[in-house]
Amino acid sequence: MSSSIHSPDQTSSESSNITEGKCPSESERRNAEMILCDHCNSIILRVGDSIWMEGNEREIPLAIQREGGDLIETERLQGWWTAKDKFAFESVGVTNSVDGIRYLTCGDCDFGPIGIAEDKLHIVAHSRVKMESVPSPTNS
Ligand SMILES: [Zn+2]
Repeated sequence: MSSSIHSPDQTSSESSNITEGKCPSESERRNAEMILCDHCNSIILRVGDSIWMEGNEREIPLAIQREGGDLIETERLQGWWTAKDKFAFESVGVTNSVDGIRYLTCGDCDFGPIGIAEDKLHIVAHSRVKMESVPSPTNS
């Protein structure tokens, strides 16, 4: 077979069929680095498995709770790495519902909460995890 030439300018009027292919858009920024547990360095999300969501301030319990007192201290965080569901994660835990909210923890060491599990979106607080760049694969 002779080499086929792909036109990158292929127009598709409908984009309802979203596949796992590379579909970069300006509003969509995927993680270019691995997202690791800040506590045990386990991989939580691999490169490209998560989409950045700017802003969207949420209140989330502190990762380290003070002893004594039944008030759960929270802090407001914004800037999230999002994934559709827990299967997008390399390793993640989901807590039991707390006031109707389920939180995400590290699947290995239970450090957390690192994010919030919602029905259609799991969000991970950028400030609760750490990023680690991986060497880019050699491609010619
Ligand atoms: Zn961990």
